[in-house]
Amino acid sequence: MSDSKIIDGKKISSDIKNEIKLEVEKLKAEKGLVPGLAFMLVGENPASKVYVKSKGKACEELGFYSVTEKLPEDTSEEVLLAFIHKFNEDKLIHGILVQLPLPKHINEFKVIEAISFKKDVDGFHPDNVGRLSIDVDCFYPCTPYGIIELLKRSGVETKGKHCVVVGRSNIVGKPVASLMLKKSVNSTVTICHSATKDIGEITRQADILIAAIGKPEFIKQDMIKDGVVIIDVGINRVEDASTEKGYRLTGDVDYKGCYEKASKITPVPGGVGPMTIAMLMKNTLKSAKGEIKF
Ligand code: NDP
Repeated sequence: MSDSKIIDGKKISSDIKNEIKLEVEKLKAEKGLVPGLAFMLVGENPASKVYVKSKGKACEELGFYSVTEKLPEDTSEEVLLAFIHKFNEDKLIHGILVQLPLPKHINEFKVIEAISFKKDVDGFHPDNVGRLSIDVDCFYPCTPYGIIELLKRSGVETKGKHCVVVGRSNIVGKPVASLMLKKSVNSTVTICHSATKDIGEITRQADILIAAIGKPEFIKQDMIKDGVVIIDVGINRVEDASTEKGYRLTGDVDYKGCYEKASKITPVPGGVGPMTIAMLMKNTLKSAKGEIKF
């Protein structure tokens, strides 16, 4: 039985992917254009390998062209930058993604800055970050973009609502706050972080609460008000001897405790998580179509 309280990220991301697939088929048939995405993976980080593999799989499923450069751990910054310059010039490539984190000897900021901001489908380039903060067209970082789509497609009113974001990272907290502040979304935004005093006092005022903290079940029932919409970005592994793997995944929100009071809530897993790749594909499609007015 479907539960209208639950914001189903699995279903919404699958709808988005189906829409993209149809658009790609049309683009191919009408213009002979195939969206292209280049991945760069440096080293052997197991989580990074899994992420790049699933992004490559999504490319296959949706009919994108993709290239993956797997480079050894000791790759120099110079070599990586040379690959980026090559992809910047490649007409078949509309999006470039360097999987983070990079080995310590490589300057991450320098690498991100080297990607043409017009192909920066991760939305991390300072030009895109700046453009987002002054509310002009740009690539939005994928997880925050996914959160906006979850709210939109679940019919959540954002105009004039108080959105409290807990977390101020460059990949989630800050960009999602900028997106909620955009004229087209029109929320009033408060951002909390580890030095915020009495967080509960602030989160209890939220009409929309976005938790991106990285601390299992940090948001408790007594920290929210009745009717709040909760977006739980957290993905935390907690030990659980009763499961086969010995652990389970949990969000930054105490789901059981907060479910009753919330008017809508994202589960973990199956909420924000599946949206990230869908929005990466959406950004690449937009890039191929020249839809973003740079
Ligand atoms: P970061 O560790 O980069 O940032 C965490 C933020 O939470 C920081 O701003 C930190 O504050 C704040 N914070 C930490 N402890 C507290 C506290 N006790 N009270 C208030 N604020 C606190 O994490 P990310 O933003 O990268 O990720 C957050 C969560 O989202 C993680 O669980 C991650 O796994 C998940 N995630 C999920 C994604 C997906 O679904 N696809 C994508 C990205 C992340 P301060 O700045 O002061 O240190």
